[in-house]
Amino acid sequence: MDFEPNRYSVIEEKNPREIVMLRGKGCAWRRCRFCDYHLDSSPDEAANFALNREQLLKITGIHHKLEVINSGSFVDLDEPTIALIEQVCQSHGILEVHFECHWCHREEIPAFRARFAKKGMTLKIKIGVETFDSLFRESYLDKGIDTDNPEEIAAYFDEVCLLQGIPGQTVESMDRDIQTGLAYFERVCINIMQENRKPIKPDPEVIAAFTRELYPKYESNKRIDILMENTAFGVGGVVEHA
Ligand code: SF4
Repeated sequence: MDFEPNRYSVIEEKNPREIVMLRGKGCAWRRCRFCDYHLDSSPDEAANFALNREQLLKITGIHHKLEVINSGSFVDLDEPTIALIEQVCQSHGILEVHFECHWCHREEIPAFRARFAKKGMTLKIKIGVETFDSLFRESYLDKGIDTDNPEEIAAYFDEVCLLQGIPGQTVESMDRDIQTGLAYFERVCINIMQENRKPIKPDPEVIAAFTRELYPKYESNKRIDILMENTAFGVGGVVEHA
Protein backbone atom coordinates (compact mmCIF):
# COMPACT_ATOMS: atom_id res chain seq x y z
CA MET A 1 0.00 0.00 0.00
CA ASP A 2 1.29 3.45 -0.88
CA PHE A 3 0.96 5.10 2.52
CA GLU A 4 3.91 6.93 3.98
CA PRO A 5 2.59 9.09 6.79
CA ASN A 6 4.59 11.07 9.27
CA ARG A 7 4.86 8.74 12.25
CA TYR A 8 6.54 10.82 14.98
CA SER A 9 5.53 14.16 16.41
CA VAL A 10 5.60 16.25 19.57
CA ILE A 11 2.33 17.68 20.88
CA GLU A 12 3.11 20.93 22.70
CA GLU A 13 -0.40 22.07 23.63
CA LYS A 14 -2.69 20.40 26.19
CA ASN A 15 -1.15 17.37 27.89
CA PRO A 16 2.23 17.78 26.13
CA ARG A 17 3.58 14.47 24.88
CA GLU A 18 5.44 12.74 22.14
CA ILE A 19 3.35 10.65 19.79
CA VAL A 20 4.26 7.78 17.51
CA MET A 21 2.07 6.14 14.92
CA LEU A 22 3.28 2.55 14.75
CA ARG A 23 2.27 -0.34 12.53
CA GLY A 24 0.99 -3.68 13.71
CA LYS A 25 -0.80 -6.64 12.24
CA GLY A 26 -3.99 -4.59 12.01
CA CYS A 27 -7.23 -4.13 13.79
CA ALA A 28 -8.99 -7.38 14.64
CA TRP A 29 -12.42 -5.74 14.37
CA ARG A 30 -12.07 -3.90 11.05
CA ARG A 31 -15.80 -3.38 10.71
CA CYS A 32 -16.34 0.26 11.64
CA ARG A 33 -18.15 1.77 8.67
CA PHE A 34 -16.23 5.05 8.84
CA CYS A 35 -12.66 3.79 9.13
CA ASP A 36 -10.00 2.75 6.69
CA TYR A 37 -7.14 3.34 9.14
CA HIS A 38 -6.90 -0.42 9.60
CA LEU A 39 -5.28 -0.50 6.16
CA ASP A 40 -2.13 0.77 7.87
CA SER A 41 -1.06 -2.72 8.84
CA SER A 42 1.07 -5.63 7.73
CA PRO A 43 1.26 -9.31 8.63
CA ASP A 44 5.05 -9.04 8.31
CA GLU A 45 6.23 -8.68 11.91
CA ALA A 46 9.87 -8.12 11.02
CA ALA A 47 8.96 -5.31 8.64
CA ASN A 48 6.64 -3.78 11.23
CA PHE A 49 9.36 -3.90 13.86
CA ALA A 50 11.90 -2.29 11.54
CA LEU A 51 9.46 0.53 10.77
CA ASN A 52 8.47 0.95 14.43
CA ARG A 53 12.08 0.89 15.64
CA GLU A 54 12.96 3.78 13.35
CA GLN A 55 10.20 5.88 14.93
CA LEU A 56 10.80 4.79 18.51
CA LEU A 57 14.46 5.79 18.27
CA LYS A 58 13.33 9.38 17.62
CA ILE A 59 11.83 9.63 21.09
CA THR A 60 13.62 12.02 23.42
CA GLY A 61 11.42 11.96 26.54
CA ILE A 62 11.04 15.75 26.33
CA HIS A 63 7.64 15.73 28.08
CA HIS A 64 8.00 12.42 29.97
CA LYS A 65 4.83 11.20 28.27
CA LEU A 66 4.35 9.13 25.15
CA GLU A 67 1.24 8.33 23.14
CA VAL A 68 1.35 5.26 20.93
CA ILE A 69 -1.23 4.88 18.21
CA ASN A 70 -1.60 2.08 15.70
CA SER A 71 -4.46 0.87 13.62
CA GLY A 72 -6.36 -1.16 16.14
CA SER A 73 -5.11 -2.00 19.60
CA PHE A 74 -1.87 -2.44 21.50
CA VAL A 75 -2.43 -6.19 21.22
CA ASP A 76 -1.89 -5.88 17.47
CA LEU A 77 1.72 -4.72 17.94
CA ASP A 78 4.47 -7.33 17.85
CA GLU A 79 6.31 -8.25 21.04
CA PRO A 80 9.70 -6.79 19.99
CA THR A 81 7.95 -3.44 19.41
CA ILE A 82 6.32 -3.54 22.85
CA ALA A 83 9.65 -4.47 24.46
CA LEU A 84 11.36 -1.57 22.67
CA ILE A 85 8.63 0.84 23.81
CA GLU A 86 9.34 -0.25 27.41
CA GLN A 87 13.06 0.11 26.95
CA VAL A 88 12.92 3.52 25.25
CA CYS A 89 10.51 4.86 27.86
CA GLN A 90 12.69 3.66 30.70
CA SER A 91 15.85 5.12 29.25
CA HIS A 92 14.20 8.50 28.55
CA GLY A 93 12.34 8.96 31.82
CA ILE A 94 8.88 8.50 30.33
CA LEU A 95 6.48 7.66 33.13
CA GLU A 96 3.14 7.73 31.32
CA VAL A 97 2.33 5.87 28.13
CA HIS A 98 -0.96 6.08 26.25
CA PHE A 99 -2.16 3.18 24.11
CA GLU A 100 -5.35 2.46 22.16
CA CYS A 101 -7.53 -0.58 22.53
CA HIS A 102 -10.78 -1.89 21.08
CA TRP A 103 -13.50 -3.05 23.44
CA CYS A 104 -13.02 -6.68 22.37
CA HIS A 105 -9.53 -6.74 23.96
CA ARG A 106 -10.55 -5.16 27.26
CA GLU A 107 -9.72 -8.23 29.33
CA GLU A 108 -6.10 -7.99 28.19
CA ILE A 109 -5.67 -4.51 29.64
CA PRO A 110 -5.00 -5.36 33.34
CA ALA A 111 -2.01 -7.60 32.57
CA PHE A 112 -0.65 -5.00 30.17
CA ARG A 113 -0.96 -2.29 32.83
CA ALA A 114 0.79 -4.56 35.33
CA ARG A 115 3.64 -5.22 32.90
CA PHE A 116 4.40 -1.50 32.58
CA ALA A 117 3.72 -0.79 36.26
CA LYS A 118 6.55 -3.18 37.18
CA LYS A 119 8.87 -0.80 35.34
CA GLY A 120 7.40 2.25 37.08
CA MET A 121 5.16 3.38 34.21
CA THR A 122 1.49 4.21 34.23
CA LEU A 123 -0.62 3.32 31.21
CA LYS A 124 -3.54 5.36 29.94
CA ILE A 125 -5.74 3.29 27.68
CA LYS A 126 -7.92 5.04 25.11
CA ILE A 127 -11.00 3.59 23.44
CA GLY A 128 -12.85 4.87 20.39
CA VAL A 129 -16.47 4.88 21.54
CA GLU A 130 -17.44 7.50 18.93
CA THR A 131 -20.84 8.12 20.56
CA PHE A 132 -22.56 6.91 23.72
CA ASP A 133 -25.81 6.53 21.79
CA SER A 134 -25.38 2.78 21.53
CA LEU A 135 -28.23 2.14 19.07
CA PHE A 136 -26.87 4.74 16.64
CA ARG A 137 -23.32 3.53 17.24
CA GLU A 138 -23.94 -0.15 16.67
CA SER A 139 -26.57 -0.02 13.94
CA TYR A 140 -24.93 2.76 11.92
CA LEU A 141 -21.22 2.74 12.76
CA ASP A 142 -20.86 -0.99 13.60
CA LYS A 143 -18.37 -0.18 16.33
CA GLY A 144 -18.53 -3.48 18.17
CA ILE A 145 -19.13 -2.28 21.74
CA ASP A 146 -21.84 -4.37 23.32
CA THR A 147 -22.72 -2.16 26.25
CA ASP A 148 -24.72 1.04 26.50
CA ASN A 149 -23.26 1.83 29.90
CA PRO A 150 -20.41 4.39 29.94
CA GLU A 151 -19.53 3.38 33.48
CA GLU A 152 -18.85 -0.17 32.32
CA ILE A 153 -16.55 1.14 29.58
CA ALA A 154 -14.76 3.44 32.02
CA ALA A 155 -14.06 0.48 34.30
CA TYR A 156 -11.46 -0.62 31.73
CA PHE A 157 -10.49 2.55 29.88
CA ASP A 158 -9.05 5.93 30.93
CA GLU A 159 -9.66 8.04 27.83
CA VAL A 160 -12.29 8.15 25.11
CA CYS A 161 -12.41 9.14 21.44
CA LEU A 162 -15.59 10.54 19.92
CA LEU A 163 -16.41 10.79 16.23
CA GLN A 164 -18.35 13.93 15.33
CA GLY A 165 -19.51 15.60 12.15
CA ILE A 166 -21.44 12.68 10.71
CA PRO A 167 -25.02 12.50 9.42
CA GLY A 168 -27.66 12.24 12.12
CA GLN A 169 -25.73 14.14 14.78
CA THR A 170 -26.91 17.44 16.22
CA VAL A 171 -25.30 20.05 18.46
CA GLU A 172 -27.29 18.57 21.34
CA SER A 173 -26.27 14.96 20.67
CA MET A 174 -22.61 15.88 20.20
CA ASP A 175 -22.62 18.01 23.34
CA ARG A 176 -24.24 15.17 25.30
CA ASP A 177 -21.50 12.80 24.16
CA ILE A 178 -18.79 15.27 25.17
CA GLN A 179 -20.38 15.77 28.58
CA THR A 180 -20.67 12.01 29.11
CA GLY A 181 -17.04 11.60 28.06
CA LEU A 182 -15.93 14.24 30.55
CA ALA A 183 -18.02 12.72 33.33
CA TYR A 184 -16.61 9.21 33.02
CA PHE A 185 -13.14 9.56 31.47
CA GLU A 186 -9.97 11.49 32.23
CA ARG A 187 -9.66 12.87 28.72
CA VAL A 188 -11.81 13.17 25.61
CA CYS A 189 -10.50 13.25 22.05
CA ILE A 190 -12.97 14.54 19.46
CA ASN A 191 -12.24 13.45 15.89
CA ILE A 192 -14.09 15.41 13.24
CA MET A 193 -15.03 13.05 10.43
CA GLN A 194 -13.02 13.30 7.24
CA GLU A 195 -13.95 11.65 4.01
CA ASN A 196 -12.26 8.37 3.16
CA ARG A 197 -13.11 5.31 1.11
CA LYS A 198 -15.69 3.97 3.58
CA PRO A 199 -19.46 4.44 3.35
CA ILE A 200 -19.96 6.97 6.13
CA LYS A 201 -19.28 10.48 4.93
CA PRO A 202 -18.81 13.74 6.81
CA ASP A 203 -21.89 15.95 7.03
CA PRO A 204 -20.81 19.54 6.24
CA GLU A 205 -23.78 21.00 8.11
CA VAL A 206 -23.03 19.00 11.24
CA ILE A 207 -19.37 20.03 11.05
CA ALA A 208 -20.40 23.66 10.60
CA ALA A 209 -22.67 23.41 13.65
CA PHE A 210 -19.84 21.83 15.68
CA THR A 211 -17.43 24.57 14.59
CA ARG A 212 -19.92 27.30 15.41
CA GLU A 213 -21.24 26.08 18.74
CA LEU A 214 -19.08 23.38 20.28
CA TYR A 215 -15.54 24.24 19.20
CA PRO A 216 -15.56 27.61 21.02
CA LYS A 217 -17.17 25.99 24.06
CA TYR A 218 -14.52 23.30 24.48
CA GLU A 219 -11.46 24.67 22.69
CA SER A 220 -9.66 25.71 25.87
CA ASN A 221 -10.67 22.68 27.95
CA LYS A 222 -7.40 21.00 28.88
CA ARG A 223 -9.07 17.58 29.10
CA ILE A 224 -10.27 17.75 25.51
CA ASP A 225 -8.35 17.34 22.28
CA ILE A 226 -10.21 18.43 19.15
CA LEU A 227 -8.91 17.10 15.85
CA MET A 228 -10.56 19.07 13.09
CA GLU A 229 -8.27 17.13 10.74
CA ASN A 230 -6.87 13.68 11.35
CA THR A 231 -3.31 14.97 10.99
CA ALA A 232 -3.76 17.56 13.74
CA PHE A 233 -1.45 15.68 16.12
CA GLY A 234 1.29 15.88 13.50
CA VAL A 235 1.09 12.21 12.58
CA GLY A 236 -0.97 10.37 10.01
CA GLY A 237 -1.96 11.03 6.45
CA VAL A 238 -4.65 10.00 4.09
CA VAL A 239 -6.32 7.31 6.16
CA GLU A 240 -9.03 8.04 8.68
CA HIS A 241 -8.63 7.16 12.29
CA ALA A 242 -11.18 7.40 15.03
S1 SF4 B 1 -12.02 2.58 14.09
FE1 SF4 B 1 -10.54 1.36 15.23
S2 SF4 B 1 -11.72 -0.50 15.79
FE2 SF4 B 1 -12.83 0.46 14.09
S3 SF4 B 1 -12.07 -0.54 12.24
FE3 SF4 B 1 -10.85 1.36 12.57
S4 SF4 B 1 -9.02 0.70 13.68
FE4 SF4 B 1 -10.58 -0.95 13.88
